[in-house]
Amino acid sequence: MSLTWIDGREVAKKWKENAAQRAQALTEKGVTPHLAVIVAGDNPASQVYVRNKENACLRAGIRSTILRLPESCTQEELESAVVALNADQSVHGILVQLPPVSYTHLPLPKGLDEARVLALIDPEKDVDGFHAMNAGKLMSGQPGFVPCTPLGVMKLLEAYNIPTRGRHAVVIGRSNIVGKPMAMLLLAADATVTVCHSKTENLADITRQADILVAAVGKANFVTGDMIKPGATVIDVGINRVDGTLVGDVNAEEAAQKAAYLTPVPGGVGQMTIAMLLSNTLDAAERHGR
Ligand code: NDP
Repeated sequence: MSLTWIDGREVAKKWKENAAQRAQALTEKGVTPHLAVIVAGDNPASQVYVRNKENACLRAGIRSTILRLPESCTQEELESAVVALNADQSVHGILVQLPPVSYTHLPLPKGLDEARVLALIDPEKDVDGFHAMNAGKLMSGQPGFVPCTPLGVMKLLEAYNIPTRGRHAVVIGRSNIVGKPMAMLLLAADATVTVCHSKTENLADITRQADILVAAVGKANFVTGDMIKPGATVIDVGINRVDGTLVGDVNAEEAAQKAAYLTPVPGGVGQMTIAMLLSNTLDAAERHGR
């Protein structure tokens, strides 16, 4: 079985170049695309993610504002920051950097209610696509903001001409930010979709039926070779830190023996997440044209 590695870096590069062109076209029209990121607390992983987003914006010609709130900030302070950005006409996209779960499962700083904060973001500026309004639009097939990671997975499948229509796609994971929107996007692309989670019985029996297997579990090397159908496309969303190195949710060595297409970690899906964030921010700026 010959294996093709899906090069997320290469696909993301094209999207980033396109983002730079779109940003320039907007700037020439007098609109400076502008993303605002709120980061609360000092979780080092969040700080790294924010810095990466800031740099990507800079390179694409998108203005970025980072609002750093202290670990001790209150719910009211966090909410007022969102309200102020909603009202700021110069801001097209807002996101609240949530701590990445798979590192340490750290919540937002103590006492902060993440759901309430996300619900406050103006859905028109919700470039992460986490607001219930955008989740509902995705579910009902209406245009809205789609979460960046699953959107990036769809763009990878498209870039490699991997068909979805009528194929059996199995998604492991049902989070609001990856698993569920991933399933909705694959369904919209005419795949037959099965969603698995921690209570799924006989998981390997199900994953072995997958033409497209998406792993978004948050557990290093969780998907082993025996869980993969020969010739399948395997998309590894996982980012896990093991002894200082990044490892996916898929045992890449074993998967490489079975899969026809496989995303590496790093250099796969992760690359697309930021590219999609730029794209979503530009969608917001183009829609509002101010
Ligand atoms: P969550 O922890 O929110 O969700 C994990 C999901 O995996 C849950 O639905 C859980 O099931 C399921 N799960 C856990 N254990 C098992 C098991 N033994 N068998 C089957 N299912 C299981 O994580 P996220 O969705 O936020 O992230 C998933 C991974 O993707 C992480 O590694 C994260 O770092 C990575 N990620 C990568 C991004 C990127 O840019 N590449 C962006 C976002 C996330 P249940 O619901 O029952 O608990």
